[in-house]
Amino acid sequence: MTVNQKFPSFLQIAFLILLSSKLTSSALPPVIKIAALFDETHGKSQELAFHRAVKMVNDDRTILTRSLVSPDIGNYPWDDSFKASKKLCELIMPGVAAIFGPTSPTASNHVQSVSDALHLPFLETRWDYDFQRSPFSINVHPHPSMLGKAYADFVHIVDWKSFVILYESEEGLVRLQELIKLPKTFSDIRVTLRQLPHGTTDYRPLLKEIKKSEETKIVLDCSFDNLERILSQANELHLLTDYHSYLVTSLDVDKINLSPYTNQNVNISGFSLTASGTRAIESYLKEFPNTGRGKEHMLFSENALVYDAVWTFAKALNDLDSLQSIQLEPLSCEQPGPWADGEKVLSYLKEVDHLGLTGEIKFDADGYRTDFQLELMEKMRSRTKKTGIWTAQGGVNYTLTATEIEGQMVEKLQNKTLKITTALTEPFVIERIFDYPVSPEAKERMSFEERFEGFCVDLIKELSKEVKFKYKFQLEPSGSYGSFKNGKWTGMIAELRSQQADMAAIDMSITSIRQRAVDFTMPFMNTGVGILYKKKKPPAPNLFSFLSPLSLDVWIYMTTAYLGVSILMFLLARLTPYEWENPHPCVDEPDELENVLTLHNCFWHNWGSLMQQGSDIAPKAISTRMVAGMWWFFTLIMISSYTANLAAFLTAAKMDSPINSAEDLAKQTKIKYGTYCCGSTNAFFQGSTIPTYQKINAYMESTKPSVYTTGNSQGLDRVLKEDGMYAFFMEAAAIEYHVERKCDLKQLGGLLDSKGYGIALPKDSPYTAAMSAGVLRLQESGKLQELKIKWWKNERGGGSCSGDAAGNSAQLDLASLGGVFIVLIGGMVVSIIIAIFEFTWKQRKLAVDENESVWAEMWEELKFAVNFRAGDTKPIKRESSRAASKSLLSKSKAESLNKYGVIGDEAKSIKSRGSRKDSNYACFNDNY
Ligand code: GLU
Repeated sequence: MTVNQKFPSFLQIAFLILLSSKLTSSALPPVIKIAALFDETHGKSQELAFHRAVKMVNDDRTILTRSLVSPDIGNYPWDDSFKASKKLCELIMPGVAAIFGPTSPTASNHVQSVSDALHLPFLETRWDYDFQRSPFSINVHPHPSMLGKAYADFVHIVDWKSFVILYESEEGLVRLQELIKLPKTFSDIRVTLRQLPHGTTDYRPLLKEIKKSEETKIVLDCSFDNLERILSQANELHLLTDYHSYLVTSLDVDKINLSPYTNQNVNISGFSLTASGTRAIESYLKEFPNTGRGKEHMLFSENALVYDAVWTFAKALNDLDSLQSIQLEPLSCEQPGPWADGEKVLSYLKEVDHLGLTGEIKFDADGYRTDFQLELMEKMRSRTKKTGIWTAQGGVNYTLTATEIEGQMVEKLQNKTLKITTALTEPFVIERIFDYPVSPEAKERMSFEERFEGFCVDLIKELSKEVKFKYKFQLEPSGSYGSFKNGKWTGMIAELRSQQADMAAIDMSITSIRQRAVDFTMPFMNTGVGILYKKKKPPAPNLFSFLSPLSLDVWIYMTTAYLGVSILMFLLARLTPYEWENPHPCVDEPDELENVLTLHNCFWHNWGSLMQQGSDIAPKAISTRMVAGMWWFFTLIMISSYTANLAAFLTAAKMDSPINSAEDLAKQTKIKYGTYCCGSTNAFFQGSTIPTYQKINAYMESTKPSVYTTGNSQGLDRVLKEDGMYAFFMEAAAIEYHVERKCDLKQLGGLLDSKGYGIALPKDSPYTAAMSAGVLRLQESGKLQELKIKWWKNERGGGSCSGDAAGNSAQLDLASLGGVFIVLIGGMVVSIIIAIFEFTWKQRKLAVDENESVWAEMWEELKFAVNFRAGDTKPIKRESSRAASKSLLSKSKAESLNKYGVIGDEAKSIKSRGSRKDSNYACFNDNY
């Protein structure tokens, strides 16, 4: 269908004239003239939309049933406002009911003043930031402040903490006021303003700067004509990656050609004014199927607004028609005289409620559009899709279901090969050991997985099966994880931030500072900082280590106490009368009394109780019993303490180490200690507020040559090489791995903190949630535990030190306890010597008595002693029966009488003395 200025057709006018002649009281004139001004450069498609609207209104006989709308259109050059006002004066001369607007601001201002002077309603469709409306103008375009609110609501809901606004003109800043003001309301939001350069279409230098700043959120405020150019230049500079998000302020984001970026998962969002799927759109598109693209699109916002303006006017006149009437009058710019019915039309225009191409059309008392709704559009492959709606009251509301969101994610991941950055760290990523010789060139040609293996390689493999994505590993050239130095990120974190990698899979600790720069999945392993140290060589075994539980002082004091108590006991026993006893219980009045507690017996008694054995000698007097009792108490405590200490002492000796904790390290300077220079362990000490760790940090910072290493493996080498003179702060997971394989290593003390390893992704990566869920599923299925056992316990010599540790602690060797045997043997030797001495002494006496040679006597006794057939009894050799020296005889007789019971001869003399009263002993002479 062709549309031209000949609307309404001749037939239609003839019909209406006929109709009006029949009706006596017509409320509206049969032909309602309207004027419209469109600029010659940009106004073509708007003019077309205007004609289409007029045609649709005239065709629809349910509205303006007795009138037809007849447009008069004037064109003017875009920048010539003089011509525009001249054209306008010509158009209104015959009398019009409304003017439809030019979009150039200067021409609009002219029209506005004419409309105010002539009380002629002026329907504008351009965006106008003026808060002061002229009384006769109505704008179908939403006010920029409302759009600004929509943009701010969007930024709020997607939680952008930092973004750059790229704007073309100062006017745009008015539209973006709400966004610019955000940091005032939310202190954690950072906004950067950058103006697109004028007089050039090369925006690359500015875009390069944005790339350098690592900003990934961009608000793009520019004319529709410039949008595609800027996006294409941004694409050249890799600013359209999965991690970049754009908010396009144009209301025609859905008309941008996105097909060049079909396979890029860049996030491009914006609001659309045209409401999809409404009856107005359906009937419009049915009548005029769309053939244009971009600005020529039938539903391009400016075109749709012109269309809606005509309909709004028609609706207002229709409402007016039922109650009131208007007459058109010729109007003149030269002789200002207002149109009498202008106000009437204006008031009905303000009351209109119409559902147009741009949604619900309503105005407030000032002629601003209210209660409208915007559709949130987001890029999906090569086009945009409605994902939510915005209203002034409700803000942004997403309308996508969870299944739709998941579907989108699956689609995005399917079309992508994720780049995974990593580094060589045992056992997370390690070079394979080949059974056959492989040249370095051959290694270079191998794929990553052919050449490397490890926990993280397996983890990503499992995760890719779980989340369904393709991936490609790459090694971070410097092998560093990422730290924030001089305002810049390094290592893998820098790679993620510059979108050179999509994920970092290594033993990357989740720290708060990194969390601000990148995203992390749920932790796949938990750990903490520990101390790696080389075991001290066990001290040379000490034969007399059984003496160690008590110090030398205590041994000396104990020996002195033993001697002192024994002598005291002996003296007290001699003093007290109750220790002196009748040696012959059967004799009432003995000639002499006997004391059992001789010095020799006192020593024996106390030694017996010290050795926990007791003896057959017992004190009888209270004083001596007191001595014995106190001695027993003393020995009880001493022996218990010794026994308790002995076991601990013998095992502790093996584990003995000069340092056992971070506190011990901090207290000394002899043993050096350090960390990996550029990781979370170092950052932990730098950021710690605990005095000990601050001291450790100060030491590490100031020590020259440096105690820092360039990696964990260098730290491990240094610990091994410096042999107890260097301790290395390392994460427990790594310590556990190395301690399993190198038996001379150990972990000192417990963990200094607690943290987890996570897979890092660029900030606000669309894949974080999916990867996190995948890690959790692997955790729950036990797969992570399986991998941990594989790489920690089984592969590469795992478990080689676990048996060693058990064996060491359970047994005490002869080298530690040999001293006890030496004491035993020594005791035996001394006892033999004493026995020989006793034997010699006794035989010498007998030999003197019998006038025999000592050697002969001794030989005889020795023969008897070693003769097993000699039996256990031996005849008594009586010194009295021998012709010997008298003194020796009498003395030995007295001894024999005192010491032993009396059998035989002596019994007679005892009997002669008569009495056998109160004897405690059996008297063998009773029958005599
Ligand atoms: N896991 C550490 C990191 O993410 C590296 C090793 C360390 O600092 O001990 O930086």
